[in-house]
Amino acid sequence: MRWGMVINLNKCIGCDACAVKCNQEHFLPKGVLWSKTLISETGKYPRVKKHVYPVLCNHCKDPACTKVCPTGATQQREDGIVWVDQNKCIGCRRCMISCPYQSRSYHSEEKEYYPGQGFTEWETIGKILYPLRVGVVSKCIFCKERIDEGIKKGLKPGVDREATPACVIICPAKARYFGDLDDNESEVSKLIHEKGAVQLYRAHGTDPSVYYIGGIEEAPVVTKYFGIQVFDTSPELTFKEGATGSEENE
Ligand code: SF4
Ligand code: SF4
Repeated sequence: MRWGMVINLNKCIGCDACAVKCNQEHFLPKGVLWSKTLISETGKYPRVKKHVYPVLCNHCKDPACTKVCPTGATQQREDGIVWVDQNKCIGCRRCMISCPYQSRSYHSEEKEYYPGQGFTEWETIGKILYPLRVGVVSKCIFCKERIDEGIKKGLKPGVDREATPACVIICPAKARYFGDLDDNESEVSKLIHEKGAVQLYRAHGTDPSVYYIGGIEEAPVVTKYFGIQVFDTSPELTFKEGATGSEENE
């Protein structure tokens, strides 16, 4: 059993519904992002190409993040899901540095979504239902609660909505698929095989469990997301705060 996701870039319309739904599902506080849609352009006008890459934690089979965590807070389940026990996390952020995919988020301080207007009802409820401590690192967990609860009810993740990650069921373009990568008969395995889906930047050697149809391994994604350049064309991905983008973007 190894849970994995396939994202069809030919279907994705870059609407960000997956990212918004992820925030809503997990009551993520302002500044914490588990799911992102990277949008960029390459080429020069009028020959310009737009690239849309929805990204999340890859739940790598051989994750870099678990190896560097000094407390065991970052751990991997038998079904491949990588998660962070926030009660064990000391916020050292080694995992953030080690992750080649910039998939992790640090909760540095409590911030209102609408500054000066107090916390919304949703933010207040979230602090009770899905609290996230300040000073810890978090990331996508493949909606493990939905999977676990669904399996207990006899449902099949990836097939039954209730047992499937929220970003998959919300996608209006039906570009996301979820299932067991170890099962040759699962929809995700068939798609990977038949459509030639690829892992992003496989050269990093972590064996991601997220695959892209219509993507290329070294995605030409150079983009700014909330002022932060998040993917680079070099195989060595770097985190460049305040970067201004590539020549092609300017
Ligand atoms: Fe860890 Fe990063 Fe892989 Fe997620 S994408 S499992 S955070 S190394
Ligand atoms: Fe582990 Fe938390 Fe440090 Fe990450 S920030 S390495 S999860 S203790």
